[in-house]
Amino acid sequence: MREYEYPTLNPEEGRLPVTEAVDVIVVGSGPGGATVAREMARAGRRVAVLERGRDHRHAPYYGTYLGALMYTDRASFRYTREGVNIIRPLMAGGATSMYCGCSAEPPAWFKDYGVELEPYAREASQELKIAPLPNELWGAASTRLADAAAGLGMDWQPTPKFMDLARAGRFNCGAHCMLGCRCGAKWNAAEWVDDAVAHGATFITDIRVESVIIEGGAVAGVRGRYGRSPFELRAPVVVLAAGGVGSPHILQRSGFADAGRGCAIDATLMVYGVADGPTQGHEPPMTLFYEDLEHGYMLSTLVDPWLMYPLITVWKGPQYPLTWLSRWGRTLGVMIKLKDDLAGEVRLGRPWSKPLTAADHRRLAHAETTARAILRRAGADPDSLFSTPIRGTHPSATVRLGDLVDADLQTRVQGLYVCDASVFPQALARPTVLTIIALGKRLAAHLRRGETVTVEPAPIVS
Ligand SMILES: Cc1cc2nc3c(=O)[nH]c(=O)nc-3n(C[C@H](O)[C@H](O)[C@H](O)COP(=O)(O)OP(=O)(O)OC[C@H]3O[C@@H](n4cnc5c(N)ncnc54)[C@H](O)[C@@H]3O)c2cc1C
Repeated sequence: MREYEYPTLNPEEGRLPVTEAVDVIVVGSGPGGATVAREMARAGRRVAVLERGRDHRHAPYYGTYLGALMYTDRASFRYTREGVNIIRPLMAGGATSMYCGCSAEPPAWFKDYGVELEPYAREASQELKIAPLPNELWGAASTRLADAAAGLGMDWQPTPKFMDLARAGRFNCGAHCMLGCRCGAKWNAAEWVDDAVAHGATFITDIRVESVIIEGGAVAGVRGRYGRSPFELRAPVVVLAAGGVGSPHILQRSGFADAGRGCAIDATLMVYGVADGPTQGHEPPMTLFYEDLEHGYMLSTLVDPWLMYPLITVWKGPQYPLTWLSRWGRTLGVMIKLKDDLAGEVRLGRPWSKPLTAADHRRLAHAETTARAILRRAGADPDSLFSTPIRGTHPSATVRLGDLVDADLQTRVQGLYVCDASVFPQALARPTVLTIIALGKRLAAHLRRGETVTVEPAPIVS
């Protein structure tokens, strides 16, 4: 065993389970952290991944309603000051433990910030065999919605998925797969942490990074709490990948006063209507989608899982959850994801604020009108149509590219990088994970050999 080059310190309970010096500390094991950790471990670097949550993947409750309560921030009852519900999984794999497994290309506008992601996204797509599900798995109700939209002139497309049916014991995917994938078809970022570990990385769960150590303008490690004890782990490179909320909090504690000023959530809302026919809630989520880039939103097929439906609709008033038993099986759902303006703040010690702007409300009104027209055309009873409250599943744009990190994702502190949804310069309004993986691959290439594909930033037109 090698001597410690950068000693670890854990005064109350002894040393961390790190047996040698660390080249790269990665904070968080979602798609950003997992990608950097895997690429760097494969390149022979000594990597430590520090994850606040636990690894619940093999627990019997994983993928159940109980599990979803256990591994989300405040048991999924986290609300912004304005009453927007935020779903924030905190466990190995980050939010890919509960995502819908949808993929989308990184937006072309990343090039305006000097960042070329296409080659990295292509590489990841090939590695993970990202592709739409075969059309017999799109679901009859979901297909009915896409057909109705086609009748209104909208060309819905099958959604590329992080799902490989060959990996599944028995493909068993309905809306409940958002609680966690039990059949094994859906890729989880924690698998890439496993791969990093297989290449020598150390993965520590239940450890909370609070701040970074900065010495002479360069990063020197991180500190935080491991169990009930403080710890300090040193390394010359630190990659924060704690997500759109975790990373700005760590930066705020480390002297970055501007981290967390303004944020995006891809504000999400479901429009529901009742129609006779197949049950959409038993179909895989989001198998078909449509993007309206002009008005700034995405539509897709989705109905909340059975037990979440009443919990979510209760905020609308008592008449909605009462429709649960009689209607859930006959509900058609169109999900709206809005390209929301940057607004509000994610600050330590203050309630999270995420107001929607007047422009957001205009976009939302346009999207709701469209969704209602599709539902009516698909045969939903017009009197049954209603919209759920707004929620956010993509907290992002809190440590923005071109603002707090440069095109290499480096902060003003040498060796301190951020690689997760917080570096988005604006809302994506589309699935985020492939973009985050591409950012991770690009950062790892930079850290290995400085071989990033950088393009000249174009002037940003607001
Ligand atoms: C229900 C749901 C469905 C979704 N569906 C899709 C989809 O179909 N397709 C898609 O592309 N995207 C989807 N998303 C969004 C996507 O999963 C997230 O945007 C993405 O996972 C964010 O990646 P990240 O690396 O930024 O952070 P995260 O995935 O949030 O990972 C951050 C990790 O850091 C850990 N952490 C936080 N703070 C600390 C700390 N202080 N110390 C140590 N560790 C810390 C957290 O526990 C977490 O594991 C969905 C999200 C949700 C919630």
